[in-house]
Amino acid sequence: MVSLKGTFSIACLLVFAEAATANPVEVADGVYSFQGPTTYISMFVVTDDGVIVVDPINPGHAQALVGAIKSVTNQPIRYLVHTHNHWDHSGGGKVFRDEGATIIAHVDAYNWMKANPHPDMVLPDESWGGSRKDIMLGGKTLELHHFGASHGHGMTVPVVAGARVGYIADLVSPNRLPFFFLPDFTVSELERTLEEILTLDMDKVVYTHNARPDPVQGGTKQDVADTLQYLRDLRAALDAEIASGTPPWLAPDAVRLPKYENWVMYEEWLALNAWKIWLEGQLGPF
Ligand SMILES: [Zn+2]
Repeated sequence: MVSLKGTFSIACLLVFAEAATANPVEVADGVYSFQGPTTYISMFVVTDDGVIVVDPINPGHAQALVGAIKSVTNQPIRYLVHTHNHWDHSGGGKVFRDEGATIIAHVDAYNWMKANPHPDMVLPDESWGGSRKDIMLGGKTLELHHFGASHGHGMTVPVVAGARVGYIADLVSPNRLPFFFLPDFTVSELERTLEEILTLDMDKVVYTHNARPDPVQGGTKQDVADTLQYLRDLRAALDAEIASGTPPWLAPDAVRLPKYENWVMYEEWLALNAWKIWLEGQLGPF
């Protein structure tokens, strides 16, 4: 006997199958978005002289990503760019090294990776410092932007110049609350970073985590503005809650933001994010 729950699940799968699109998706000329088996999304850029890949995620994702690249081009994979240090994004580099790619990370990410080895992660071949590095290959330029501390170490936002397409890892996730409650996440620096990202010359953005129904299609710069507004609205709501007489140690759990209740993880993460804002306001960044 098929249970009602089972019937519902099958119906959901059918709806999902109808909504799913090709993978990878060419979001701009020669710029592709690829969703791997664990939902994480990478980007790759095909040029006349090879391919540049952003974020390998893990060995299984990386292997599937190499297959996706080879399904659209015969060009060799020349570069792998890491967005940041975290193991759940930086695994799988060996798959690209075996393909002949040079692995690149910001020096802050590189130093952390060197100090914190993981069996799935290889140390990059090159590191770069400062706020900007350009990779020029086959007539295209991938700009690497670093805005200082926000989430993890060496957070890098790549932009395909001319194509006006960017890639953002954990700073913004469309249609989902950001997750502030991490030891290496600084909310005030995130606010400044998002303001600076909004000045970048891009329209479309491929997001590693995207809670829209068709995530591999990516999003836009508006998603960055929306997350920045959420951060400001949450801080204002927390301040108002405390100003109304709620003790500060109860205010984070009392805050509500109905404007965002349709975002995924609203119930689960709203109070945690409010706690992080309040604690950072009392203790300073940590
Ligand atoms: Zn991360």
